[in-house]
Amino acid sequence: MSETQVMALLDHLADQGKVVNFWLRDDDAVLPTPALDRLLTLTRTAGVPLTLAVIPEQTGQPLVDCLRGEPHVAVAVHGWSHRNHAPPQAKNQELGLHRPIDEVLGELKHGLEKLDALHGPQFLSMLVPPWNRIAPEIVERLPALGFGSLSVFGREKPAPLPVLNTHIDIMDWRGTRGGHPSEVLFGDILAYLESDQPVRAIGVLTHHLVHDEQAWAFLERLFERTAGHPACRWAAAADLIGN
Ligand SMILES: [Zn+2]
Repeated sequence: MSETQVMALLDHLADQGKVVNFWLRDDDAVLPTPALDRLLTLTRTAGVPLTLAVIPEQTGQPLVDCLRGEPHVAVAVHGWSHRNHAPPQAKNQELGLHRPIDEVLGELKHGLEKLDALHGPQFLSMLVPPWNRIAPEIVERLPALGFGSLSVFGREKPAPLPVLNTHIDIMDWRGTRGGHPSEVLFGDILAYLESDQPVRAIGVLTHHLVHDEQAWAFLERLFERTAGHPACRWAAAADLIGN
């Protein structure tokens, strides 16, 4: 039902000559894996640009070699180590104020420089905080570190640098820990499409390492329905943030 409604709305927008932007962010890449291959093939075939949030600490040349022939992929900075520094009762967070801020900033700078050196033309100076959480005091310091943009989850809020967020998380972290049912996700997309305050681009968030078949099936279906649709434009993050 939701999928039918989304497609009807998109057809209506196409009749009016309107276009909705979408973008895709996938998190937690470190190494080439069969799951990453599957994501790369899926996005390449559909013509969907992919922003891959890479964890700097443990990554290296094998991922560079894997991505080099994939011009539709851009690499963003996913924190430094994806280690939790929050106390046991608090929500997981790497980029909070649980340790001296200079220590956090030093790691972020190191991560940015490492991925820039490794990935060169495919590098995008976007910070993707692990668990989509970052202290405002750290956000304030990102431009001085060399970050050109920030991406978390939910509606964009004002910040001292361009923000391009994700809005649709395909994984059911608190429930099955598999993919959400397709109808739920198309319903989430419908809500953004129908909103009085449209976002610049509807961001879809994926985690290739933990996808079950339901998650993969949703992505395949979404691309099949939208990638060639005249009212949809799957855009690269760099084009959306204007650098
Ligand atoms: Zn992550």
